[in-house]
Amino acid sequence: MNLDHAEITALTKEFETPFYLYDGDFIEAHYRQLRSRTNPAIQYYLSLKANNNIHVAKLFRQWGVGVEVASAGELALARHAGFSADNIIFSGPGKKRSELQAAVESGIYCIIAESVQELLYIEELAEQANKTVRVAVRINPDKSFGSTAIKMGGVPRQFGIDESMLDTVFDAIGSLRFTKFIGIHVYTGTQNLNTDSIIESMKYTVDLGRSIYERYGIVCEFINLGGGFGVPYFAHEKALDIGKITDEVSDYVQEARDTLFPQTTFIIESGRYLLAQAAVYVTEVLYRKTSKGENFVIVDGGMHHHAASTFRGRSMRSNYPMECIPVSEDPGRRELEKVTIAGPLCTPEDCVGKDVQLPALYPGDLVCVLNSGAYGLSFSPVHFLGHPTPIEILKRNGLYELIRRKGIPEDLVVTQLQTEPDLLFADK
Ligand SMILES: *Cc1c(COP(=O)(O)O)cnc(C)c1O
Repeated sequence: MNLDHAEITALTKEFETPFYLYDGDFIEAHYRQLRSRTNPAIQYYLSLKANNNIHVAKLFRQWGVGVEVASAGELALARHAGFSADNIIFSGPGKKRSELQAAVESGIYCIIAESVQELLYIEELAEQANKTVRVAVRINPDKSFGSTAIKMGGVPRQFGIDESMLDTVFDAIGSLRFTKFIGIHVYTGTQNLNTDSIIESMKYTVDLGRSIYERYGIVCEFINLGGGFGVPYFAHEKALDIGKITDEVSDYVQEARDTLFPQTTFIIESGRYLLAQAAVYVTEVLYRKTSKGENFVIVDGGMHHHAASTFRGRSMRSNYPMECIPVSEDPGRRELEKVTIAGPLCTPEDCVGKDVQLPALYPGDLVCVLNSGAYGLSFSPVHFLGHPTPIEILKRNGLYELIRRKGIPEDLVVTQLQTEPDLLFADK
């Protein structure tokens, strides 16, 4: 999205910082372009873990995108967003029985089982509910693909079931009566910027479907090709050749459709690629100071709202792309200077930018963190220090919609207040 400084400044008159601003028109154009390049036999699913704003999810629902959830909370959000049950899939290595039960009751399209034990739990719950439940199995491939930041294929993982254990899986599946195996899922890692490794992994997944037919005589009606499409955040990163991926995977899927899989639903999941570049996180400078010769500014947002921008979960401490908007009365010329931008939390980890080269910043100026539409709020420790959650604003067709109101200080205590005295247990 393009950052319009006058627009952001005007918004700060209406809305208190910090806030997230999403560009709905960008989200739509970006998705539609991806969609138009992809074989219609492939459906896109939005991964809610990258962003769990219900109004953002609703946009995708309107465009016919499905949703991938990974908890009962995300499942509830998907239902509230209006996704029909048959457009919801549920993955995650640690689904509790209560969560599986919620999925069974909702009758979602498919539960993605990540262990043989989970298959057996699902069978039990399906039998209790006297329902047929569709499951797919997440497979941890024998092979590793390219060099993604977080390798997920070919190495020991808590996710999925090893490809080498397929015999055991299909033995178990053979004994299930209420659980219907419909297909497979392979997901090899997020923020993948290696075009060829994504293509390779998706083709491998289609081939896995073929080999399941050859070995067990079952035609998958669901093949989830995964995704993990990355976006460049830092200077050294290069954008994916998305056209090459959609072309090659579309052709490969077409060939599969024309031969063994005429009825099969193919799926690509994405959170980051669909949303990362569609939002900015806007903070205001509160203080300016120096310490032992270094410049610091303290802003009103940080790790509790946007942990990823403060290096969390990243091995490389590189700064997110940032722009500053001088709003305060200009106290002279704005010389470029090296500055560390810290948030309000009482930890040195709350650092939005280390040694950033920016025009001198003063209280009242705005610091905008770009590429903030995915793994922003959903990835952040919002309770740490108890600051309220930030506002979220969606801009569409020139209109602004408040899509998350500001949290209130009492949010910190609502789940702690005792409502029922008999919740107290005596220590034995
Ligand atoms: C996290 C995750 C996704 C989303 O990944 P992105 O890189 O955000 O597109 C999709 N599928 C599974 C199984 C995941 O764990």
